[in-house]
Amino acid sequence: MSTVSGFFQAVNEEDLNTCVNCGLCLPHCPTYRVTGEDMFSPRGRINLIRSVKTGDLELTKEVVHALDTCIQCMGCEPACPSGVQYHSIISPVKAELHDRWKWRDVPLRCGLYIVTHMRYLRFFTRVLSVAQKIKLVPKRLPVPQVSFRRRSFQLRGGNTSDKEVLLFTGCVMDAWYRKVHIDTVTLLEALGYSVKISGDDFGCCGALHEHAGFARSAKKMQRNLSRRKSPQTIVVNSAGCSASLKNTLATTHVVLDINELLYRHLSDLEELLVQRKETVLVQEPCHLRHVQGISHEVNELLKISFTIAQLADDGLCCGAGGSFSFSQPEMATAVRVRKVAEMERVIELGSPKAIHYVASANPGCLSFLSGSGINIEMVHPVTLLAQSLASEYSKGDKQ
Ligand code: SF4
Ligand code: SF4
Repeated sequence: MSTVSGFFQAVNEEDLNTCVNCGLCLPHCPTYRVTGEDMFSPRGRINLIRSVKTGDLELTKEVVHALDTCIQCMGCEPACPSGVQYHSIISPVKAELHDRWKWRDVPLRCGLYIVTHMRYLRFFTRVLSVAQKIKLVPKRLPVPQVSFRRRSFQLRGGNTSDKEVLLFTGCVMDAWYRKVHIDTVTLLEALGYSVKISGDDFGCCGALHEHAGFARSAKKMQRNLSRRKSPQTIVVNSAGCSASLKNTLATTHVVLDINELLYRHLSDLEELLVQRKETVLVQEPCHLRHVQGISHEVNELLKISFTIAQLADDGLCCGAGGSFSFSQPEMATAVRVRKVAEMERVIELGSPKAIHYVASANPGCLSFLSGSGINIEMVHPVTLLAQSLASEYSKGDKQ
């Protein structure tokens, strides 16, 4: 006979009961694809959570591992015909696991502390980057090669204030991919926007913390952020951050992922961008495709200038998953191996017509995939678009 356990009481029973165990989500789950075991699938995890909640199953090490290894890519949600809100099941579970066993997260806590303190983040990034150059840190670790001179924004200004937007610079995106911010500004200004920069004071959106289960820290950051003064429209070029900010600022601001905003200007961009000969392989970040439903927009934008190649894996996760590759390196690497194999298949298919770039709109995917050793340049789509601006709009900022 089942009794109620002390675990997972925050998970809504109705959400659990929406799952009819059909298994249609299984092929869309990267961890199921790697293991072939039901307990590493959405259905399996839902059943584990339900059984632990009702007291029918003990929360053993194996159960915790199955729950810990969910990447929260949300590939299962759009695949589910019953409309299971998997995120509202797994989020409180992750938060509870981290709350109950704080000690097991010490390295992750330290990492996330650094992420929210921009000076430390920049300092450690440079140290790691140098250590990697002199081979003290293995090449497979996703450390971006940042330059010592921090590039500054040179806002052109002069555009009308009725098209004013705030570019949310965030944490990792600013420390590791500032060039993408600069390219974003270039594109927005070419489209007539007046751009303001959020900068370090604005703070981090808390997406990494929330994803890792540090719900309280994430809430605190989100509260701080919602008190900041800013233009009504906020533009974000990291898919994980745009997904998170859309929730945090849902009632006060219009938050747009940069791909979403640029897509609204497709015909303007057709005038502004030049055609190029290269081919781009598009990698879709989960938080763009599965969470925000932004998919064909990136292709349509890139198609203005480039030939597009696509993966045939229904947007299966690459394994990066916020801090997932740090906290669960084995599963993350196994998931990445499958992704890279699919990328290599398409690259081979494309030859002798080479694929010149892999485009991905999320810093986590960019850095994690770069660490796979795949020999192709990984770039944010915004950088490719900014490079393709006709010279009178470009700031001459080719890579
Ligand atoms: S989560 Fe949805 S697709 Fe997966 S088993 Fe349950 S009902 Fe079926
Ligand atoms: S969120 Fe991703 S990893 Fe987790 S169960 Fe769903 S598809 Fe699998």
